[in-house]
Amino acid sequence: MCGIIAYSGNRSATPILLNGLRKLEYRGYDSAGIAIHSDNTIHIYKQEGKVENLVQSLGNYEEDPTHEAGHVGIAHTRWATHGPPTTANAHPHGAGQDGVNRIALVHNGIIENYRDLKLKLEGEGCVFLSDTDSEVLSFLIDSHYKDDLAKAVSAALKEVQGTFGIACLAKAEPHKMVVARRGSPIVIGLGEDETIVASDASAIISHTRQVIYLDDNDVAIIEGGKVDIRTLDARPVKRETSDIDWSEDAAEKGGYDHYMLKEIYEQPTAIRNSIRGRVDLDKGTAVLAGLGLEPREIVDIQRLLIIGCGTSMNAGLVGEYATEDFAGMLSEVEQAAEFRYRNPIVGSKDMVVAISQSGETADTLAAVREAQEKGALVAGLVNVVGSTIARETGRGIYLHAGPEISVASTKAFTCQVSVLLMIALKFARSRRLSREAGIQIAKEIHRLPELVEEVLKQNDHIAKIAEDFTNYTSMFYIGRGYLFPVALEGALKIKEISYIHAEAYHAAELKHGPIALLEESMPVVALLNEGPGKEKTLGNVEECRARKSPVLGVITEGDEDAKANCDWYIEVPKSPQYTATITSTVALQLFSYHVARLKGCPIDQPRNLAKSVTVE
Ligand code: GLU
Repeated sequence: MCGIIAYSGNRSATPILLNGLRKLEYRGYDSAGIAIHSDNTIHIYKQEGKVENLVQSLGNYEEDPTHEAGHVGIAHTRWATHGPPTTANAHPHGAGQDGVNRIALVHNGIIENYRDLKLKLEGEGCVFLSDTDSEVLSFLIDSHYKDDLAKAVSAALKEVQGTFGIACLAKAEPHKMVVARRGSPIVIGLGEDETIVASDASAIISHTRQVIYLDDNDVAIIEGGKVDIRTLDARPVKRETSDIDWSEDAAEKGGYDHYMLKEIYEQPTAIRNSIRGRVDLDKGTAVLAGLGLEPREIVDIQRLLIIGCGTSMNAGLVGEYATEDFAGMLSEVEQAAEFRYRNPIVGSKDMVVAISQSGETADTLAAVREAQEKGALVAGLVNVVGSTIARETGRGIYLHAGPEISVASTKAFTCQVSVLLMIALKFARSRRLSREAGIQIAKEIHRLPELVEEVLKQNDHIAKIAEDFTNYTSMFYIGRGYLFPVALEGALKIKEISYIHAEAYHAAELKHGPIALLEESMPVVALLNEGPGKEKTLGNVEECRARKSPVLGVITEGDEDAKANCDWYIEVPKSPQYTATITSTVALQLFSYHVARLKGCPIDQPRNLAKSVTVE
């Protein structure tokens, strides 16, 4: 989850590392640090809190000869798993004797057997300065070190259980850095006589577009522009070079106050890119070559199993409903970690769709491997090109939403839903759905970007409503059918960024318990788009208001009946409920954004969260 950046070349490393950390801060932001190799010494600087604290603590580093001469360095912004977010626990972690660092390491992931290793190393005289599992790995590498960092790293990694993306330096090898991965991403950016390594491409793109994605258990030895990749057994391997297909601007705020707002506004374009060339309005189907399935193979699939976590799981639920609705086919959504640990019934007649924005989500990746082990067809639905899930599934659909930097996901969700609707359409057309009915659905998907544009025009109106919500501490979200996942996603969004406690319920479920909590101080957000179940949800709204709970309705434009029953309302364009999932979600994203903004919350970096959850 953390951010790693490392540099080897002929420029001073410190400014490059600090800029990289700023770009990666969305991946973890409780502490940060850098290590540079200069004057035959490894210098480590670290600081608790934001990257800016670290920058401040370095003072006038541009004119400091140590920094000027340091052309090799590693850096890290942490998302604590082992030990509190203190300066001592911040990375890089040095290892050596008498206060001299022979090794320095940054690590993303978890070393599961760190306790046993720590005991053994303490027995050999190592003195640990932090609570982290990462420092244990640093000392383990040091214990294997003779004169070759790559050998020591490989030997240490053979003893380690868990996940890692690492970058390390050795005092005795001043120009070299060694990076490796298992389960956590490492991208190597190839420059001219220089190499920039990072945990994701957003920190590399300002230097180069040419990248290599390491595979699990690869160890790369890097010196300036030279990159030598080997297996843990020192066997040389060749990894493809690919081009990053988005621009640097895509990962910048572009005049918006927050990445989240920018990404909310990018949704018409993002959805356009997701559906481009994939909706066939003539045949009333979807063209999804990435699935690698012939129509005959699709017919043989008996169940669509969708797995994901958080926002991706909420999107998956829309996929489940659409698959059942359009294709009359069995479909289920499953939380990815649950899927893995409860011995799922899955086999060759199942198609598993694994959803993850980053393509690195540890729980989802583990579920992918489990499903593959059991013989299911597994496809990835990911945003990040070249990510682990994309590569390991070998089939799937990229979202093409562009980089999502905001920790709270917005455009990835709406693009995931768009793609899931297309998958459901494709499966439906291979079954009973007629061409005419298929064309109708295809048209509705095709007009999504314009519908979202209409919702965005309501920004000021939504901001005004948000003013009334800053003092509430708890809320309910209710919806039926397709609109239940929207309630889940709306509640998740407000929790994530405004810290207001929120629960989502099937509208019918309210009276089976939660209704006991309704009172004036408990507002209810009701998803009321026209379509099946609307009248019944409106009945639930009456029940809420009878108990003094104020109601915010997300309604179809011009629905006077719904307006009359709500204390506040947001209108979204008329559309079937399966696409109203997207328009209504966009309305609730803006609502959450404005509540959080008015409360002064750190919207792009909500407390305790981080982007790309690479730990289980
Ligand atoms: N497990 C390590 C720690 O707690 C690394 C966490 C991270 O990925 O940021 O320091």
